[in-house]
Amino acid sequence: MPSRTVSGKPDFDVVVTGAGPGGSTAAKALSNLGLKVALVDRYSFPRDKACGDVIGPKAQFLLKKTDIKVESFVGIGDMDIVLPNDVRVHLPSAPGIDFDGVGGALARYQFDEILFDAALDSGVEFIKGRASFPVSVHSNEPHVVLINSGQEVKSLTATYLVGADGANSSVAESFQLVDRAKILLGFAVRRYVYGTVRTPVISILGHANELFPGYGWVFPSTEGRLNIGVGVGVLNDRSKGSLATRTMESYLELVRRTLDVEFEEDVNEAKQTQLGGWIKMGMTGTTPGKYRVLLVGDAAGLVNPLQGEGIAQAIESGLLAAQAIQQAPNDPATYYIKELLESDSNFARGASFIHRTAVLHPQLSLAGVKGLGMLAQKKRMASAWGIYFNGLVNSAGPIRGSVLARTTGSILGNSEALKDFFYGFKD
Ligand SMILES: Cc1cc2nc3c(=O)[nH]c(=O)nc-3n(C[C@H](O)[C@H](O)[C@H](O)COP(=O)(O)OP(=O)(O)OC[C@H]3O[C@@H](n4cnc5c(N)ncnc54)[C@H](O)[C@@H]3O)c2cc1C
Repeated sequence: MPSRTVSGKPDFDVVVTGAGPGGSTAAKALSNLGLKVALVDRYSFPRDKACGDVIGPKAQFLLKKTDIKVESFVGIGDMDIVLPNDVRVHLPSAPGIDFDGVGGALARYQFDEILFDAALDSGVEFIKGRASFPVSVHSNEPHVVLINSGQEVKSLTATYLVGADGANSSVAESFQLVDRAKILLGFAVRRYVYGTVRTPVISILGHANELFPGYGWVFPSTEGRLNIGVGVGVLNDRSKGSLATRTMESYLELVRRTLDVEFEEDVNEAKQTQLGGWIKMGMTGTTPGKYRVLLVGDAAGLVNPLQGEGIAQAIESGLLAAQAIQQAPNDPATYYIKELLESDSNFARGASFIHRTAVLHPQLSLAGVKGLGMLAQKKRMASAWGIYFNGLVNSAGPIRGSVLARTTGSILGNSEALKDFFYGFKD
């Protein structure tokens, strides 16, 4: 085992752990600043990742900022939400201040590889292996990273660590940045089948499916496939995650019977594509950094608690982590946390409150969602729902429903009465 005490010049300026969208984006941005960067992942690429594969409008805008070209998306615009009482709400997509309103679908094994290759092209060094972190964050010495390749354990040193290692981040755990009692976890499963869907669908599942707050989805994907999945919110009770997996077959049955979707399933092949994963949401219960350690994307718990989107947040926080190291090299975490809070905490506060209430009071919340469904037959209300649900209040621009969405966001985000429901970042 390598010694915990290190001296001399570190091997790297930055070690980024995890080569998902957050890690690859951060690594590329740091390398572009002239820093020597290692990107560590336990898998080689391409690798699969459980996801609905929707790269939303905000993520598309952020990709442009990173200069990474992704051309093979299947376009996604409007979406339908189907409620348990079969009421359908059509959520129109619309351009915002800094995005054009259209998202796209691309299987994650393809999407993540494009970002990963872009990082390597910018001079980042890839190291395959599982990373762990034995050194105290209070030390002024370089951080030590142990990398277990399966055959051997190597030791590296770095001035900065960026933890982009997903919802179960070992960087976050090692540096004691997680307060397990306060995190908002979800578990979601996806499967690929062959078929088409006219408008992508999100089904709020209640009653017979007993999966609330949770939802099923049918999204288009590449290669003539559909991405069908189910996700459930569990607060911090991991034992409830299997509910999503157990609901998959009955959701497929529901899709076949009640939605305007045609698909064929080669049972064996489709089951082989089934993959699940944890989601950490709402900026709550995880401190996203300390001194020279920064957490990005799912490691920091940045996923939208209302619909499970996290790719845009992973890319945005990856860029912000690079900016923090450049702007505040002595204490990037303080800079980083301040910027994260300024960019999104109002939405996170309101959305986390809604999510937590739905888990704790499912019947009451389900009744509320159904009521909202009736109101949202009016276009303005549906549009406001789409803006708030997708976390686009700050960037929506003066479009139909934006004033209502902004007012809702402001009431929920600023309410003193709700602050006990939002734990925010751990002190
Ligand atoms: C079923 C499902 C559906 C989803 N659908 C969508 C969607 O449609 N749109 C959307 O925007 N978001 C969606 N999300 C959320 C989205 O997948 C995440 O927010 C996003 O992947 C976060 O990116 P990331 O870079 O932070 O982490 P990840 O993409 O999780 O990448 C983490 C990387 O770290 C590596 N790693 C982990 N631990 C270690 C270690 N110790 N050492 C080395 N490497 C390590 C992993 O191998 C992985 O490559 C979904 C999530 C799930 C589970």
